[in-house]
Amino acid sequence: MSVIDPGLAASLWETTGKAGKITIATHMHPDGDAIGSSVGLMHYLETLGKDVSIVLNDRYPDTVAFIAGKGDGRIHVHEEAPEDTAEAIAGSDLIFCMDMNSFGRAENLGEALGKAGCRKILVDHHLHPDTEAFDIVVSKTDISSTSELLYYLLLEAPDIRGDAGKLPEATAKALLAGMTTDTNNFANSVYPSTFAMASRLLAAGVDRDAVISALYSNYRENRFRLMGMLLKDRMEITPCGVAIIIIDRQTAQNYDMKEGETEGFVNLPLGIRKVRMSILLKEEADRFRVSVRSKKGISANRCAMEYFNGGGHEQAAGGRLVKGKDLGSCPGMDEVAGYVRDCTCKFFKEQI
Ligand code: 5GP
Ligand code: MN
Repeated sequence: MSVIDPGLAASLWETTGKAGKITIATHMHPDGDAIGSSVGLMHYLETLGKDVSIVLNDRYPDTVAFIAGKGDGRIHVHEEAPEDTAEAIAGSDLIFCMDMNSFGRAENLGEALGKAGCRKILVDHHLHPDTEAFDIVVSKTDISSTSELLYYLLLEAPDIRGDAGKLPEATAKALLAGMTTDTNNFANSVYPSTFAMASRLLAAGVDRDAVISALYSNYRENRFRLMGMLLKDRMEITPCGVAIIIIDRQTAQNYDMKEGETEGFVNLPLGIRKVRMSILLKEEADRFRVSVRSKKGISANRCAMEYFNGGGHEQAAGGRLVKGKDLGSCPGMDEVAGYVRDCTCKFFKEQI
């Protein structure tokens, strides 16, 4: 069984072989899979003698910093040093876009990525990839994560030849970590190929206990205090079976929430039998970031596309509600909850 078309992989590695300076980009608000696949690729390309940098719109959360590890110095963040990301993109011989289906997902880096004169490669597992915008497209949606997709792509590389034991140690660890976060530790989007990857990486010596401990036993106490309060006092369940949780800026400040510390909250209400879809909204200065999760048979992706200016996967998607556009310019929590209640009710009526 070949997860990746060998011809496509051969052309990707041939193109990569010809490039000297390579830039890797990923989506805004990078998560474990975005960082795992980008950092995993960087460490491998460095063994080929390439000059590699990673460009991000905004910094990754502390919760996934262990994946970046020592690679941190080659990661440039637009929000911190826009001249560095612009220089990296403009000077590239080749650009890899990881875990994003279009340049727009890199937010403020999107335009520079699109305009860059070099060849561009997409490696992604989201629905609706913008295939026209890339020279080589490795897109597969029936796979756990971009980290898994990259793992199978790397197995096709001429110097790896199917032997996971030949992957750099840092790449193997980053890929296992990225896949673990995107599957919610083997709970969602798991395929036979996913277990095969995990099995071979473990056999190759990756310390899974260390990865699991860094991901799931390393949070600050305030995450759990906020989680308890939201489930007890703030979660609403609509008659349509939609759980809604809103984290306004004041609450986030009261609990000293940092980026990434609410990761996974949106999955919790799906444990309730009557809940069919769970929606978590997080307030930012100009918008509410929206996370949507659904049970099998209900499309979180379609709901995110139709009502939240976003998309993603069938059961896990995201988007945004912009203040002064989708909502009033200074919306109260009642208004936001009302919007979500109404549009999800409409969404479920359309389903029948
Ligand atoms: P999360 O809720 O964890 O932020 O995102 C869930 C999934 O939806 C991820 O795969 C993420 O890449 C995707 N996603 C999140 N926000 C957006 C968005 O605004 N647009 C699109 N197309 N996908 C998104
Ligand atoms: Mn992903």
